Amino acid sequence: MKRLLIKNANIIDVSSKYHKQCVDIYIEDGVIKKIDKDLNEMGQVFDISSYLISPGFIDAHVHCYHGKTVIGIDPEKIGVKTGVTSLIDAGTAGANTIDDFYNRIIKKSEERVFVLLNTASDGLKTLSELSTDGVIDKKAIKKAIERYQDTIVGIKARASSSVLLDKGIGPIAESKNIATELGLPLVIHIGNAPPKVEEVLDLTSAGDVITHCYHNKVNGLFLESGIKKGQVANALHRQVKFDIGHGSSSFSFDVFEKAVKNGFRHDFIGSDIYDKNIGGPVVSLINVMNKVLACDFSLDDVVSSVTSKVSEHFKLSRLGTIKVGNFADFTVYKLHDSRKTFVDSVGQSRTGKSWIEAKYTLVEGEIFRVENGGEMISFDFLKDSMSLTQEQMTAYDDDLRYIDDYVSGHGIKFQDHFKLGFYSHMVGFIDRLKNKEKLDPVDESIKDNIEEKAFKLTYDLIDSMSKKYEVETFESEVILASIHIQTALAMEED
Ligand SMILES: [Zn+2]
Repeated sequence: MKRLLIKNANIIDVSSKYHKQCVDIYIEDGVIKKIDKDLNEMGQVFDISSYLISPGFIDAHVHCYHGKTVIGIDPEKIGVKTGVTSLIDAGTAGANTIDDFYNRIIKKSEERVFVLLNTASDGLKTLSELSTDGVIDKKAIKKAIERYQDTIVGIKARASSSVLLDKGIGPIAESKNIATELGLPLVIHIGNAPPKVEEVLDLTSAGDVITHCYHNKVNGLFLESGIKKGQVANALHRQVKFDIGHGSSSFSFDVFEKAVKNGFRHDFIGSDIYDKNIGGPVVSLINVMNKVLACDFSLDDVVSSVTSKVSEHFKLSRLGTIKVGNFADFTVYKLHDSRKTFVDSVGQSRTGKSWIEAKYTLVEGEIFRVENGGEMISFDFLKDSMSLTQEQMTAYDDDLRYIDDYVSGHGIKFQDHFKLGFYSHMVGFIDRLKNKEKLDPVDESIKDNIEEKAFKLTYDLIDSMSKKYEVETFESEVILASIHIQTALAMEED
């Protein structure tokens, strides 16, 4: 039997009777057996006194069916290594592709993956998936749900002009009928008209979910003032739920703040993360949670939107709440009381007073260390601009991550247009280290313009990397890299 004793668990979980208590949690074979003060059961001890713990974070909106779709990312990149234990894939697969998704990805993933089945048979094989006749096959949907009862937790349909082309509201109404017949929630993406969002809302009933609730496109849920449209008020009255679904272009701080000021509240914080937005503006679920925190939502509220509210709504059995008998799925994190700035999907920013840094995740008692606080960095911008192959990228990955940890750990933030300059310089440096090559000496007078702080910070970085490759620390390398660091420091002061 596998036994684990979590000592000093400071619980944040409004749905648990242990909320805000410091207790010990005893786990046997992946299931919570006891929760109490001062437990001394035998087993591996995991002391987390300096952190907070919540039920494992559930991202209610991701796209992790990759390889045969237009958007999709390996669950490994958005799951346990980033502070997330469960993922709900929002319609990347349909009835024709769910077998491939299940066998190739879901079955093998460390993360729990649940599915909202797209009513379009091939899912997101194209991004206009509902624009052709006959793409919704009710019989095939029913059969898929019978095959994957524990995995499929709802139905997904996307209601925007780019998806439907000239089909109008028809395919969305058809999707709603199927969801009703099957007794499953329908999750509807909203975007540009047609169809008009008012028409879409009128189709919804209790338990349905509208995702991308704070997008700033014309066809949104709110009036310019932030007041809810009448159909939104009616939908709320019918117990329709709302998901943030940040995505590449669906989260605006302005829309969010105005809506909240006028009494609107989302239910779930889904990231809508996939390959094309992990490098920004989504980055990670934690990053999206931090944006909500930055707008003065409480930690309790933010955590419940990725735990109990999601598990209750989608009936995720034994997840989302810390109690005896539930799976030992947790996220362990630190809440920093310091300022940090976040950017939405339209380029606006807000600075919060506190932010979450994920440290560990546990899935059925198995402990995973979170890399980089839950913000997986993508270096794809280098790949494209330097024409590097995926193989080369993988070879640089460890060193680039080390550099990234080092600079962010020292509070150095590169603005976008300087980031490329610095990291491409560092790729060159890594090459020189690997080949034990020396840079041509630089003119010493350059050094006179470098401030001591920038020089020292850079020296330590270059020195530790040189040691790793058993190369003597070369001052010209430090001087040249210092120029980038000094620029970044100067920008911050502005
Ligand atoms: Zn999505």
